[in-house]
Amino acid sequence: MDRMREDAYRAVREEVAVRADALWNVALRLHADPEYGFAEHRAAALLSGELERAGFAVQRGVAGMPTAFTARSGRGRPAVALLMEYDALPGLGHACGHNLIAAAGLGAALAVGAAQASGGSVLAVGTPAEEGGGGKALEVEAGVFDDVDAALMFHPGVHSWARAPLTAQVQYRVAFHGRAAHPTGNPTEGIDALAALVELFNVLGVVGRRLPDGSHVQGIVTHGGTATNIVPEYAEGLFGLRAATTGALRELAGRLRECAEGVARATGTTAEVERATVRYEHFQDSEVLSERFAAHLARAGITLSPPAPGVYLGSSDIGNVSTRVPAIHPFVAIMDEDGSDHTPEFAEAAASGRAREVLIAVTEALACTAVDVLRSGELRGEAWARHRAARGG
Ligand SMILES: [Zn+2]
Ligand SMILES: [Zn+2]
Repeated sequence: MDRMREDAYRAVREEVAVRADALWNVALRLHADPEYGFAEHRAAALLSGELERAGFAVQRGVAGMPTAFTARSGRGRPAVALLMEYDALPGLGHACGHNLIAAAGLGAALAVGAAQASGGSVLAVGTPAEEGGGGKALEVEAGVFDDVDAALMFHPGVHSWARAPLTAQVQYRVAFHGRAAHPTGNPTEGIDALAALVELFNVLGVVGRRLPDGSHVQGIVTHGGTATNIVPEYAEGLFGLRAATTGALRELAGRLRECAEGVARATGTTAEVERATVRYEHFQDSEVLSERFAAHLARAGITLSPPAPGVYLGSSDIGNVSTRVPAIHPFVAIMDEDGSDHTPEFAEAAASGRAREVLIAVTEALACTAVDVLRSGELRGEAWARHRAARGG
């Protein structure tokens, strides 16, 4: 059994090795041609084309998104999904290194597909618009991950962390309706909607001091009236809510609604509160799988540590996948800790010699972890048991 697993690791590593130059070339082509969320047409065509040529059954335009796709090798369960992000950042190119995520997911899927001896399937999933569009959230809703046992990806970073402390996030639009009037001529007739919105900011400032660690609200005014000689009858703000867990985010959204309604009662306005974006859930790491990934990656001399305590990062739509199936999203450093993603320096690092080394090491580790998922019923059982326990808790 162990001997057979070792043989399978060797086989996928060989498949990665023969593709190393081609995978790096894919990473560089994406890097040189950045496309933005939901418009990654050339990236999706390049990646799905490579998979199709290798015999994967490709389905394009999944979940109603033209640049989303799935590619399957084999059939049925067990099934392991390898995720590819490929959107860039306006003005900054591949400053989040998604070109490397795409090439690693592609390489691991091709390697496992080519070396696949046992049953089950490898599903490569093209996931558009991670930077704000929530492509994966829409794919989860469309059932793309319904018959999958594990979802695997990595993210380049400035740290090498086994798991990602990704928070839950959503935006809400709050509108206040008052009554217009001339501020001098008939001031008592006016009901100032902007004053209500300003009051909401004040109340949230007080509430903010009592929120749990990782929770916060950031608001902006998107409509604040039209002229200084009219009492504003309409005012609107957009509020970004973030929390360490999806449960805490739900509570925070409830708090926002209460505050808006309270302010409306106090000011004689009416309030409308509505969700303005897809909700990004917090990331729930599958420890048994991220441990397997870390062990495979250690072979290449890259050590992953737990994230620094108390650190919360931004949000990602992998969170929505991770509440549906056991998932991993480790960070592997492509630059030193004094750097940051979403900078021109990070974009440069995403096409550097170090990035190439990371890409090949990570592709091997993802492929070997996929082999573990496909070959070990025990591992799958443990991953699902812990996943369900965490969901229930
Ligand atoms: Zn990013
Ligand atoms: Zn990213």
